[in-house]
Amino acid sequence: MKALVKSRAERGLWLEEIAEPTIGINDVLIRVRYTGICGTDVHIYQWDEWAQKTIPVPMAIGHEFVGEIVEVGSNVNDFYPGDIVSGEGHVTCGRCRNCLAGRRHLCAATSGVGVNRPGAFAELIALPMTNIWRHDHGIHQEVAAIFDPFGNAVHTALSFPVLGEDVLITGAGPIGIMAIPVVRHAGARHVVVTDINPFRLELARKMGATLAVNTQQTPLAEVQKQLGMREGFDVGLEMSGNPVAMQEMIANMSHGAKIAMLGIPAKPMSVDWRAVIFNMLTIKGIYGREMYETWYKMTVMIESGVDISPVITHRYGYQDFQAGFDAMISGQTGKVILDWTH
Ligand code: NAD
Ligand code: ZN
Repeated sequence: MKALVKSRAERGLWLEEIAEPTIGINDVLIRVRYTGICGTDVHIYQWDEWAQKTIPVPMAIGHEFVGEIVEVGSNVNDFYPGDIVSGEGHVTCGRCRNCLAGRRHLCAATSGVGVNRPGAFAELIALPMTNIWRHDHGIHQEVAAIFDPFGNAVHTALSFPVLGEDVLITGAGPIGIMAIPVVRHAGARHVVVTDINPFRLELARKMGATLAVNTQQTPLAEVQKQLGMREGFDVGLEMSGNPVAMQEMIANMSHGAKIAMLGIPAKPMSVDWRAVIFNMLTIKGIYGREMYETWYKMTVMIESGVDISPVITHRYGYQDFQAGFDAMISGQTGKVILDWTH
């Protein structure tokens, strides 16, 4: 089968013919239809320090996908060939304290699809049945392909109640963008989104931000005045991984505010801890998705009319993956989709 393989320890990805995966009794075999390119895939493509330490070569990468089940193991009795499914990208150990208690998102021995084990940028992928989420046949398949990052957005956005609250989202990458309709749906009042990239700020406006702000031009204190806010933002969603954004967020929160942090800083960063203490802020780190509460919420929100599809700005056939990665690297995109159907 065809797959996008990190076959050499250097910058790039290669479309290669590799062996089809075989399945064990608890596994499901899926024919991949559409995949999303994630920032993680770009790190692997670029072969940065993290990728060099983490990725075994050779390996097919990718973890955002939708596909159709073509075969199930003999122990699998609630998934069937023909089901339209996505895969949860974190394969958990099932035996640690958190897994046994049903808190699988807190598993300390997680293996990442397309990171530590073969990925979804391939015609076929095999996954344990415990990692499969079945979609309604009517779902928009490109939207289903990005349930994994949508899940990051939903997990973060719903970490704290937002009904009637003023929400600050720092970082209008695909995940920050998808968080906008979620907090809107959950009843937020003002939803202010920051970035320093005009293309992405425009996308944030399109997705329903009250204001999309380039903080290199307009400070958040000014934005608060403009919106008639007096005491700061109530809930912060950090989705940039940028230290300046985090510092701006902490400086503009109300007393007692809550911050959910998804963005991954490239290295340790300093913040003004005095503001955290004196203003009694709560900061919660977010990793992955809750299995499967986040997936349930995503499905129900899509059924209720939450529309994340405008985040998808570019589409390519898998043979044109290079153009897809180039587009991602340019920063002039929302989510980029690769089509594996022909
Ligand atoms: P992305 O890199 O596409 O988006 C980050 C955005 O932040 C970019 O648009 C960038 O222009 C913007 N930015 C840079 N400096 C800024 C500043 N000073 N103020 C405001 N915005 C600024 O990433 P993404 O795919 O949308 O993911 C968002 C973040 O979440 C990334 O840091 C990613 O590594 C992280 N992530 C975490 C998890 C997890 O499980 N914790 C999962 C997926 C992604
Ligand atoms: Zn575990």
